[in-house]
Amino acid sequence: MNAETKPKLALYWAASCGGCEIAVLAIDERILEVAGAFDVVFWPCVMDGKVADIEAMEDGSIAVCLFNGGIRTSEQEYMARLLRAKAKVLVAFGACAQDGSIPGLANLLDRDTIFRQNYVESPSVDNPESTLPTATTTVAEGELHLPAFYDTLRTLAQTVDVDYFLPGCPPEADRIWDALSAILAGDLPPAGSVIGARTTVCEECPRTRHEKKVKEFKRTWQVIPDAETCLLEQGLVCCGIATRAGCGARCPSVNSPCIGCYGANDGVQDFGARMMTALASIIDSNDPREVQRIIATGIPDPVGTFYRFSLANSFLRRSRRPVAAGAAAGAATRGED
Ligand code: SF4
Repeated sequence: MNAETKPKLALYWAASCGGCEIAVLAIDERILEVAGAFDVVFWPCVMDGKVADIEAMEDGSIAVCLFNGGIRTSEQEYMARLLRAKAKVLVAFGACAQDGSIPGLANLLDRDTIFRQNYVESPSVDNPESTLPTATTTVAEGELHLPAFYDTLRTLAQTVDVDYFLPGCPPEADRIWDALSAILAGDLPPAGSVIGARTTVCEECPRTRHEKKVKEFKRTWQVIPDAETCLLEQGLVCCGIATRAGCGARCPSVNSPCIGCYGANDGVQDFGARMMTALASIIDSNDPREVQRIIATGIPDPVGTFYRFSLANSFLRRSRRPVAAGAAAGAATRGED
């Protein structure tokens, strides 16, 4: 197949760490099959590419776009809209695109606080005039532009229509290959589906399970768990009970609790709410004060524990923030969120 007749593939990296892009290379020599099957037209992480070339393409002319990362800036939103228009199949690729993931935890703060902490207060910053990034800066030579930084990180599906979701932080190489193979074969689930397993990590986990009754939750540094028994039964907050399978229970298999990077299992709308109800059902006490003590001492960081990967896609989506009179209308006018 020559480049003209091959289906076109694009990959893009928005608000994320870039691990999803590395995970594509983790499919090892099968990357050659990808290169044989697709004409890779856009992949800024590994090859030069111009946005203008994508803009010049006909709508729908890219067969598949794997889009990783959430939407934090106006440039990322522009690219999401552009690639949505150009791609027949748009895949939210990885936990950041699907649920916001770690960058989405910054939704606990607002833009001003993020800028102040990063550009003024950070101990490694020397910024005596407290200069902050602005979208437009005028210098002697003319105007300089930066993408606008939004107050709230959005997921890809909160920004454009998404055809499929491929979960994971990052997606496992074999699951990436499964998805690419399914796309090549035209053997895809209904649009809007998560490509992957429908069970939980517990179903993949080799550990022995009994009735769960927990009197204390422990941090991972406080205990060396036995290698056979369910970690949750040993008091470690293991998110395998609420997390979609697909990783092969990698973390529990090496004595480390699942932290939920594959996102919520089928039918679960809010990962953190699911985890909280599951944990509430296994605490071995009917005394509300004792239950409160067990939670407060064992789970000192509830957001980081229950919404590490999904705050931006949760019912809450972000922390509440004070909005000064007129500020909301002004932000809407500027296209900021
Ligand atoms: Fe589920 Fe975690 Fe227990 Fe394994 S260790 S059975 S993943 S809760």
